[in-house]
Amino acid sequence: MKIMFLGAPGAGKGTQAEHTSARLGIPAISTGAIIREAIKNETAMGLAAKAYTEKGALVPDEVVIGIIKERLEMDDCKNGYILDGFPRTVVQAEALDAMGIEMDAVISIEVPDEAIIARMGGRRVCPKCSATYHVDFKPSKDGVTCDACGEALTLRRDDSPEVVADRLRIYHEQTEPLKDYYASKGRMKIVIGQDKVEDTTALTDAAIDSMK
Ligand code: AMP
Repeated sequence: MKIMFLGAPGAGKGTQAEHTSARLGIPAISTGAIIREAIKNETAMGLAAKAYTEKGALVPDEVVIGIIKERLEMDDCKNGYILDGFPRTVVQAEALDAMGIEMDAVISIEVPDEAIIARMGGRRVCPKCSATYHVDFKPSKDGVTCDACGEALTLRRDDSPEVVADRLRIYHEQTEPLKDYYASKGRMKIVIGQDKVEDTTALTDAAIDSMK
């Protein structure tokens, strides 16, 4: 199955993508995680992307489209995959169409801006394996290190309140129009993000299963 998660930054796309990946045995592909890894390793792409990401702006379409093309050609994508954070603009969605890729399910996770702002300060990420946590909603076992690899968890630099406000504005301007884009194709379901991760997960699983 090819599944896409749409939603504002902090809506829970990454968490639901990780869960769905484990449930269906297909990889979750996060352009944000690929970009953060490239920044950490100081690759040419990482150095080019850093300034955009740190101020909450979108990385240019051609860069992200290049990243996704390369990633989707890998062997583990043969039986399907989950897109988390791509596409984020109509140009990116059109690039996916031009690659001949059609989604089986598009899940839009909806959370009001005020709830997103309240959530972001508690988000934590593993700088080594990119696993995501939240101090209240999805804490790691000891609260400070990654359950998967033991690395000390950190805050994302772009989760500061000023940057979050910019990311939400960009989401509404550039990414939200994708809901109409995919709704008109008839493969989109809306999931209302719940306070408890497991409640959102149950709704997400049901939405995906109804489109199998
Ligand atoms: P995320 O982890 O999905 O919130 O992404 C973190 C940051 O990476 C974003 O704020 C953007 O700067 C960049 N990014 C990730 N995915 C994309 C995309 N599809 N298009 C443009 N920039 C992206």
